[in-house]
Amino acid sequence: MKQGIHPKTFQTVYTCAGCGTKWPTVATKESLRLDVCAKCHPFYTGEQRIVDTAGQVDRFMKRLKASQDVQAAAASRADGKKK
Ligand SMILES: [Zn+2]
Repeated sequence: MKQGIHPKTFQTVYTCAGCGTKWPTVATKESLRLDVCAKCHPFYTGEQRIVDTAGQVDRFMKRLKASQDVQAAAASRADGKKK
């Protein structure tokens, strides 16, 4: 191995925060954490589930509701003008 050109590597463990699965690997970081892995990702499990680790689905549903309320209000105002 040529000296001075390779990054420092560690014997480390990947840890999945979703299901707790761990597996050993060699990496340039001392600890590695994943949100989903092949054992718990819906694509691999075939389960119909939304992976929502940061409340993003909730935030989207709130924005969608606000948008629908605004559209409904605009539609009712438009109906009022026609009559
Ligand atoms: Zn997992």
